[in-house]
Amino acid sequence: MSYDLHTHTNASDGTLTPEALVQQAHDAGITTLAITDHDTTTGLEEAHRIAKQLNLRLINGIELSVSWSQTVIHIVGLNIDPGSLPIQQGTIELNRLREIRAIKIGESLAKSGFENAYTGAKSLAGDATITRSHFAQYLVTQGCAKNVSKVFKHYLVRGKPGYVATQWASLENAVSWITQAGGIAVIAHPHRYKIGNKRFQNLLEDFKQYGGQAIEVVCSNSSQKDIVKFSRLSQRYHLLASVGSDYHGPHQNWNGLGKLPVLPNNLTPVWSLFQDQTIQLHDDQYH
Ligand code: AMP
Ligand code: MN
Ligand code: MN
Ligand code: MN
Repeated sequence: MSYDLHTHTNASDGTLTPEALVQQAHDAGITTLAITDHDTTTGLEEAHRIAKQLNLRLINGIELSVSWSQTVIHIVGLNIDPGSLPIQQGTIELNRLREIRAIKIGESLAKSGFENAYTGAKSLAGDATITRSHFAQYLVTQGCAKNVSKVFKHYLVRGKPGYVATQWASLENAVSWITQAGGIAVIAHPHRYKIGNKRFQNLLEDFKQYGGQAIEVVCSNSSQKDIVKFSRLSQRYHLLASVGSDYHGPHQNWNGLGKLPVLPNNLTPVWSLFQDQTIQLHDDQYH
């Protein structure tokens, strides 16, 4: 069995269609895949059609944008019922905030001499949830920088002209939308947050208190040291352990799909909940 419980499609800022992502995951030997697009579940229906043909277990997922204590945190929801009202309403609101932010990013970049960035990013996004990645891709086409990571570094992060701070969902609301949808809330890519150990532990305490259940212990680019650190925290806080590549498509110079280290065997994997069928799998509404 091979698991990847954090991936993106072109319903948000991934480059592959849901169908192509599922096919690639299958080819990479993944047997259980979660699609976790930013603040949207629109890719899931198409993905389920091919997952069924390939006999791959597809977990309905999402990655919610959260503001916690002046820090942006991403919370993955696994095995959600996408038809659940609170998460539907929550994602509508988050997409409204994304649209407002995108317009402001465009205005701010225009002041720095980059005209039409909003229109450019919007046309790359199409019907997808608009993200900073779409701005980055557009700015690369305009020759602003050689690649997407350089655009982020020079234009799209805090302190740079295309950065616009936004108040996303609260941690409490995001976790509650997920749990009300029958899902499991997971702290995404914990090694990436630039907060100290003490604040990180405060985050875990709040997360637990609101009903959060898991943490990604193995991610793409997590070092051995990170894996040890987050394994310990998952044990100390009784959080289930998840594995996710955060794959966005073959353009990434690291290809996470199917290539992640295995979870240390002293941890309880989040999929123990799927296997024991202690929870209902929300994968039947598309069949
Ligand atoms: P947003 O949620 O719209 O603020 O965009 C966040 C997304 O941008 C993340 O999910 C990543 O896919 C991408 N991203 C953030 N930082 C970087 C970076 N330094 N290089 C490349 N992609 C990045
Ligand atoms: Mn992304
Ligand atoms: Mn993320
Ligand atoms: Mn992600």
